[in-house]
Amino acid sequence: MILVVGGAGYIGSHLVKELVNKHEVIVLDNLSTGSKHLVDNKAIFIEGDLGDAAILDKIFTSHPIKAVMHFAANSLVGESVKDPYKYFNNNVSNTLTLLKHMLKYEVKNFIFSSTAATYGVPDVQLITEDTLTRPINPYGRSKLIVENILEDFNNAYGMNYVVLRYFNAAGAHVSSSIGENHNPETHLVPIILEHLLGKRDRISVFGTDYPTPDGTCIRDYIHVTDLANAHIKSLEALLEGRFSKNTFNLGNGKGYSVKEVIDTCERITNLKAIVEFSKRRDGDPSILVASSQKIQKELGWKATNNLESIIESAWRWHSKNIQTHS
Ligand code: UDP
Repeated sequence: MILVVGGAGYIGSHLVKELVNKHEVIVLDNLSTGSKHLVDNKAIFIEGDLGDAAILDKIFTSHPIKAVMHFAANSLVGESVKDPYKYFNNNVSNTLTLLKHMLKYEVKNFIFSSTAATYGVPDVQLITEDTLTRPINPYGRSKLIVENILEDFNNAYGMNYVVLRYFNAAGAHVSSSIGENHNPETHLVPIILEHLLGKRDRISVFGTDYPTPDGTCIRDYIHVTDLANAHIKSLEALLEGRFSKNTFNLGNGKGYSVKEVIDTCERITNLKAIVEFSKRRDGDPSILVASSQKIQKELGWKATNNLESIIESAWRWHSKNIQTHS
């Protein structure tokens, strides 16, 4: 059985939908940002906090957990700058409680959701796992601290782990039963699509003076189901003992500017957006594009969706759910 912490959130729920086809799954989520209805009904659901020792004791004593996958983090850069305590408390301290319980019950396989924000403002165009990690905000620092803890736990206690550094997750499940819906929504793709569906009166582009061809930020967008599949391949590698630790970037290896993402949404939906150009958002590096060569080579994983198919899937889900999640 696999414990998925944070399995009721956007990325966690897409992982659970794939994972239940191969493993028994138990989800622990405090529903602070997730929703119970996103959790596939083949999984056991427990409402609770990953920092709650009593709940963790109960889960680990009642179920034969082989591995833990951890998605239960706060992940908004701007919020982390304003409220770093929240980020270090949940993302670091609560994760430490979870790891302590894993050691207590001798569960030694861990898949950790990390982020491109650990790289800060990289001085290379294509980021590899060896690119220096110099995070520029508390969110990125909180994730990097856990990465360092994992390395030390691997050395000292034999904790096996895979760190997955996500670039920009987007898109919806092929069934259109689950998709991206944060509250408040801050991410580019859902914001554009909500605008095109009439839920917002305009889109703001944050900064047009970046050192990029059209002046707007460039990001590497990756389909959430591609992310989910990378987790499953990583889990299998750990369970088969192929390595005891690893760190992988997850991206498409191709960057798109904010303007290009808006153009692609307009093309796919056949609708015209009202765009306002505004000032830069705090903490945004100009270009973040992943090399995912390492995971391709070591686990045979490759993103199967490009920006078009990411947006097409998101558009199908948003159009279908416009009433239900407004
Ligand atoms: N962005 C934007 N307008 C928005 C939301 C985002 O211009 O309403 C930009 C943002 O500044 C960044 C890119 O779109 O350059 C992707 O932002 P998002 O919040 O989706 O992901 P992040 O890169 O912060 O993880």
